[in-house]
Amino acid sequence: MSITPLYHVYDDEYQNRIFIKRDDLIPVSFGGNKARKAINFFAEIDSGDYDCIVTYGSSSSNHCRIISNMAAGRHMPCYIISPQEASVPTFNSQLMEMFGAEIIVVNVENVHETIENKLSELRNSGKKPYFIAGGGHGDLGTQAYVECYDEIVQYETDNHIKFDYIFFASGTGTTQAGLVCGQLFHKDERNIVGISIARKNPRGRQVIINSINEYLDGCGADASINEIENKTVFIDDYTGSGYSKANEEINADIRKMMIMHGIPMDTTYVGKAFSGMKKYIAANNINKLNILFIHTGGTPLFFDYLQGRNAE
Ligand SMILES: *Cc1c(COP(=O)(O)O)cnc(C)c1O
Repeated sequence: MSITPLYHVYDDEYQNRIFIKRDDLIPVSFGGNKARKAINFFAEIDSGDYDCIVTYGSSSSNHCRIISNMAAGRHMPCYIISPQEASVPTFNSQLMEMFGAEIIVVNVENVHETIENKLSELRNSGKKPYFIAGGGHGDLGTQAYVECYDEIVQYETDNHIKFDYIFFASGTGTTQAGLVCGQLFHKDERNIVGISIARKNPRGRQVIINSINEYLDGCGADASINEIENKTVFIDDYTGSGYSKANEEINADIRKMMIMHGIPMDTTYVGKAFSGMKKYIAANNINKLNILFIHTGGTPLFFDYLQGRNAE
């Protein structure tokens, strides 16, 4: 796994030192957390007996863009089941087409059934499909962020620094589950705060806790349910109207980050979470601390934003 750059970007008005970890710069298909996860999935695919891939996601899915890119590079057919309700063309969907993915658009309530049918159809015709859940959800996705946590701890050791907070955009929660598991393994104390980009509590947080339990079970590790619950902080105050257009404040943060630091942020995930983090810092009187924000990617969505497209 490549180690992504981590550096100090600026000090905020409360004298917090804000650092960023550039997972958007993972050198695969425009990077992002879906690239970090995909590298793990493809390690399993490459060492197994598979000849095609089935996954799902919307037309703006970073996950589907990366999976279809990596599949195309291996001359493996890639089937993407995509909900009709989120099928507006974006740079991600244009890239999926460029990679020759077969995109099967169905009503959202038929996604599950269509996946099952596609998998049996492929198996019945003698193919060996590998299935990846949407967003790279699952233990290999969680594992990717246990590895990211290891990188963060290594950075701290090398640079004699300790991050008091780690923030990032939290969606399906796989990223957050990996970070919390990493923290449990390292037995260190700090606040890991997932800023929800769409889901509400209690479900959003419960999905993360389930992923953590599943992963810990898989590696035979255990932690008390109390400890897991205490460490899983999922903030749903800044979702706006869910998977939506940015408001003025988010737009201003995106422009400022690009102009001052040359770092692109999209409106659906990273810009929204960054803005949310700033509000959380102010609301909780956080000051004079070291704060790490993980940039989880979505670069093509930044260009949709530039074009004034409503990337959902
Ligand atoms: C998918 C995604 C997220 C959310 O990651 P989860 O592991 O699903 O919580 C955050 N940022 C970007 C850019 C994403 O594509």
